[in-house]
Amino acid sequence: MSWFKKLKPGSGSNNGAASQETFPLVARQAWCSVCDAQTTFTRIWRRAAMMRKCPNCGLSFEDPGLLYKRFQPACPRCAEPLEQPDFDYGFCDRCGSKFELMEGAKPGLLPNQRQREEMDKHGKSWSSI
Ligand SMILES: [Zn+2]
Ligand SMILES: [Zn+2]
Repeated sequence: MSWFKKLKPGSGSNNGAASQETFPLVARQAWCSVCDAQTTFTRIWRRAAMMRKCPNCGLSFEDPGLLYKRFQPACPRCAEPLEQPDFDYGFCDRCGSKFELMEGAKPGLLPNQRQREEMDKHGKSWSSI
């Protein structure tokens, strides 16, 4: 019947809940090593499942488990660092850099493509930052 609750397309559907890869968290203060300052991170989330697709170049991973066996999983095509399940991530409000946010530890930078290129130019490995 047409009087029955109408659902707007694309809103409030829970069908995809089981496959949700991330969960939003509340904003917090954290140290940003790019700004070299304590900043606010408004966009924060906890990763629930392995990334199946590169957020940078869009490459679909055939076997994410294989990539995640490495100490620092990264996209095989563009070297985008991959988020790990059960870790928190967020973007610095000030510079937009992505960090892994760990309780009681300094946030670890996940450099984007531009930041990786900068580091390559200077002969630095991002894992040593
Ligand atoms: Zn990629
Ligand atoms: Zn920053």
